[in-house]
Amino acid sequence: MKPGIVYLIGAGPGDRGLITVRGLECLRRADVVVYDYLANPAFLDEAPATAEHHYVGKTRGRHQAPQEEINALLEAKAREGKTVARLKGGDPYVFGRGGEEALHLHRCGIPFEIVPGVTAGFAAAAYAGIPLTHRDFTTSLALVTGHEDPDKKMSSLDWSKLATGVGTLVFYMGMANLPLIVRELMAHGRPASTPVAVVRWATTPRQQTLTGTLADIVVQVRETGLKPPAVIIVGEVIRLREELQWFENRPLFGRRIVVTRTAEQAGDFNRLLEEQGALPIGCPVIEIVPPQNWQEVDAAIAGLSSTDYLVLTSANGVDIFFGRLRQLGLDLRALAGVKVVAVGPKTAAAMEVFGLLPDLVPAEYRAEAVVELLQQEGVAGKRIFYPRAEKARDVLPRELAAAGAEVVAPVAYRTLAPAGAGETVRHLLQAKEVDAVTFTSSSTVENFLALLGPDAVELLQDVTIVSIGPLTSATARRHGLNVQVEPPDYTLEGMVAALITYYHPS
Ligand code: SAH
Repeated sequence: MKPGIVYLIGAGPGDRGLITVRGLECLRRADVVVYDYLANPAFLDEAPATAEHHYVGKTRGRHQAPQEEINALLEAKAREGKTVARLKGGDPYVFGRGGEEALHLHRCGIPFEIVPGVTAGFAAAAYAGIPLTHRDFTTSLALVTGHEDPDKKMSSLDWSKLATGVGTLVFYMGMANLPLIVRELMAHGRPASTPVAVVRWATTPRQQTLTGTLADIVVQVRETGLKPPAVIIVGEVIRLREELQWFENRPLFGRRIVVTRTAEQAGDFNRLLEEQGALPIGCPVIEIVPPQNWQEVDAAIAGLSSTDYLVLTSANGVDIFFGRLRQLGLDLRALAGVKVVAVGPKTAAAMEVFGLLPDLVPAEYRAEAVVELLQQEGVAGKRIFYPRAEKARDVLPRELAAAGAEVVAPVAYRTLAPAGAGETVRHLLQAKEVDAVTFTSSSTVENFLALLGPDAVELLQDVTIVSIGPLTSATARRHGLNVQVEPPDYTLEGMVAALITYYHPS
C-alpha cells in the first residue's frame, strides 16, 4: 500500500488562535491525530469526528512516551495509508524533537510536511509585553535549552559567549535549573542587575509573569511557587514590559467563568469571554432532543401554504425547524408566502445560515415584545405557526390566540440535562476555582442546580451569578441564588459587558 503522509504541525503555545491556517487545514483532513500535553486539546475537535486520537505526552507520574515509540506510531499509521497529524506544542523544530521525527520518516521513505508554529518563547514575549529585540536595547536573540532534567549537565552550553555575546536570551525547559542558569550568567560577566522575566502558561488565561533581576529572580520564583511550563527571558528588553503589557491587563483576565449553554451554542460566548481574557469553563447543562413524535410539527409544516406567520424564538428552534423541513424533503420554498418573525438577533442570524431573512424582529428580545409586534400587525384571523420548546412559557400562544389568531404551537424540541456534566464543575466549585457562573435561560438555571444536587446553592454562595435577563434572574432568585450581574439588553455581549463593569466599577 502507498503510505499516507505525516504532517508535523506546530500547534502554537496554547491559545487556540495561534495555530496557522495551514496547520488547521492539515488537521481537518487527518485520519489520525498524535498529540502531547503542550498542544491545546481543543484542537482535537478540529479533526474529523472519525479520526483516531493518540496521546503521547507526559502526565503526572508517567513520563512522555519514548521517542522511538512515537516514531514507530507515526510510521505505522502512515504505512496504513493514513493521513497523520502530529501536533506539537509551539514550533515542531524548536526543542520539540520534530527533527528526530522527520529524520525517522525520511529514512522510512514516508512523505512528510513541516508546518511551523508560534514557538513558546516568541508567544510568551508577545503576551507578556516584551519585544524580544528593540534597537535601543539589543540586536541579537538566542533560544537556549535549560534542560528541565536536573541530572543532566548543561556543560554543552558555552556560558561565556551566551552571557556577554547575545542581547536577549530565552530559556526553554529551564525552571528546574534556574539557579544554575542565573549563577553561570553572572559568573561569566552578565551584570546582576540584568532584568529577567519568567512567563508561565503563556497566551492562556492562566498566564503568570514574574519579573526581577538575575540577583533576585530565584528567590522570587521560590516564594511564588511558580512551576513549569515556563520560559525564562533575560535581557534589557524586559524593561519595556511596564509600558507594553496588554494581555494581563484585559478586564476579565484570569477569571474562571462557567458557561452552562449547550456545547453547540457555547462557542460564541466562549470566544467573547476569551477575548476579554477570561477562562470559560464549559458545563453544558442542556441537550436538545427531538419531540416524542413529529406528528404535530409535520402537520403544521404540511399546512405552511395556508400559514401567515412563522415565529421562531431561539437558534435551537431554527435548527430544528430546518432540520425537519429537510427530512421531509422540503426546502426554503415551503415558506414562500409566510412572514417570518425572529425573537432577536441570534435567532435571526441562525435563520440567515439557511438563507432566510426574517421579516420582523422586535426591539426587545422577549416573547412579550413578539406579541406586541404581531398585535400591531393585526393578526385576527391569521394563522401563526410557532414551533416551540417543550418548557417554553405559553405567553405567545395565549396572547396571540386572545388577539384572534389561530395559533399552531407544537413542541418541536425538548431540553434535557446530559448525564455526568456536573462533576468537573462540582470539583472546581469545591476547590473555590470558579469566579462566576452564567445563565442564559431559566432552563439553564434549573438544569444546572439539578446537576449539582441538593447542596447546589451552598456551593454557589461565593460565586458571582450572572443572568441574561429578568426572567432568568427571577428563576435563579426563586431557587435561592443571589444574582449580581444582569445586562440591560438580554444578550451575550451584554452579559460580558456587565461582567466587566461588575469587576471594574468606575
Ligand atoms: N516546541 C516547543 C517547545 C517544547 S519544549 C515550542 O516551540 O514552544 C517545552 C518547553 O517549552 C517548556 O518547558 C517551556 O519552557 C516552553 N513552553 C511551551 N509552552 C509554553 C507556554 N504556553 N508558556 C510558557 N512556556 C511554554
